[in-house]
Amino acid sequence: MEATASNDSYEIHHENATYQAVVCHRCGAKMFPAELLEAHMDRHQIKDMYLEGELKKLQYSMNRMR
Ligand SMILES: [Zn+2]
Repeated sequence: MEATASNDSYEIHHENATYQAVVCHRCGAKMFPAELLEAHMDRHQIKDMYLEGELKKLQYSMNRMR
């Protein structure tokens, strides 16, 4: 199996067939089929929101400690 890069889409050649895959800009993970990227990006977003919330909680308790 080999992958060739062209912008952010990958072509995966496997057993005489070519599959289109996309690469996540956030973590570089290859997604196949390309439709998976949407769900994958959702996961990133959920994680971002979670981290943001955790950060705010942390900042809040840090401020209280002063
Ligand atoms: Zn990703």
